Amino acid sequence: MLQSPVSLRSTPCPLPSATPRISDVEATAQRCWARPLVYCVVLYSILYTIASVPKDYYATLGVDKNASPEEVKTAFRRLAHQHHPDKKGGDEGKFKEINEAYQVLSDTDKRKRYDQYGSADGFQGFHPGQGFGQGVEFDMGDLGSVFEGVGEMFGFGGGARGQQQARSRKGQDLEITLTVSFQEMALGATKEFELKKMNSCSECTGSGVAKGSSLETCTTCKGRGQVVTNRRTIFGQFQTATVCPECRGEGKIPKQKCARCRGEGRELGARTISVKIPGGISDGDTMRLTGEGDAAEKGGRAGDLYVHIRVKPDARWEREGNDVVSAAAVTFSQAALGTTVSVETIDGAVDCEVPQGIQSGQRLKIRGKGIAKLNASGRGDHLVAITVNTPKHISRKARELLEKLKEEGI
Ligand SMILES: [Zn+2]
Ligand SMILES: [Zn+2]
Repeated sequence: MLQSPVSLRSTPCPLPSATPRISDVEATAQRCWARPLVYCVVLYSILYTIASVPKDYYATLGVDKNASPEEVKTAFRRLAHQHHPDKKGGDEGKFKEINEAYQVLSDTDKRKRYDQYGSADGFQGFHPGQGFGQGVEFDMGDLGSVFEGVGEMFGFGGGARGQQQARSRKGQDLEITLTVSFQEMALGATKEFELKKMNSCSECTGSGVAKGSSLETCTTCKGRGQVVTNRRTIFGQFQTATVCPECRGEGKIPKQKCARCRGEGRELGARTISVKIPGGISDGDTMRLTGEGDAAEKGGRAGDLYVHIRVKPDARWEREGNDVVSAAAVTFSQAALGTTVSVETIDGAVDCEVPQGIQSGQRLKIRGKGIAKLNASGRGDHLVAITVNTPKHISRKARELLEKLKEEGI
């Protein structure tokens, strides 16, 4: 954004001791009469440039003129995420435009004024104190709360700058794949595994400050957490606020850094993680363990650990929703007369009555021996799929008996 034209002073000449504000231009303005003329030309150029490029903030955010504040915010979040410069494929120019539009349209007063003048030039030209050249190029600090949410959702570290960033800085999210047995899937289990990750420093408990030492205000940014750089151009002064490289936005630095973690507040190490797998989980499900990812650098929040679940297939069982299906074979005579078969359920062996006259392919139900219902109480059933085996090789005696059955119409 352009800096306020307060730098265009119409001070009487000569002014040898005055510090030139628009040095590029002023260098050429050696003679007294030339100075006011140059100022006029510069001012005209500024107004002309702005007037010739009217900005439609509604179009920038892709919202209707009657859009509600909520719609404006939603549109801004979506676009800001899309073009965020920290993101791969981000577009800083576009991001600034979106931010500028949002700064105006999200503020009731500014939006009203903008609506009143109908376009950015009216708004900016006639209200220099409000829009034209006030403050920094884009104020990421104001967006802290908005970006914390977006960052979390999409896994990039938030867009807030300065001290806002120190607060929202988060450790890296991690992910692992955990394989569970069919029974663990069905009934739930507590699994433990070792994970090498960044942990909070055991010496300084994450503060980065050496024992006995304390924090002091950063001299580079004087505790503000950000440094402002000025760029002068013929159109005025541009200001860009960036995170202080010395204290990384925190405003404070340790007098003496912790020797173990070199002031970072974290160290790499193996950690035993215990995770409670709920019964009824599915292959491909992902669990999020909040705060079990990498520890953040001092002052930040730990990342999360995403556990992707794989269920190891078991030849004995198939899953059908919350039911477990297994197969059992009976002989021709057992099917006709009825029998009892031993069925292996996930709870162990269970005797199952096979009624007489069962047909091949029929299923018998053993209630409550199935898979635990996720986020609900109770369990599914165990289903036994019956196959009737027709004898392929028969003895002479069996043949005689079968011949007799045949005579009986069986
Ligand atoms: Zn330490
Ligand atoms: Zn600093």
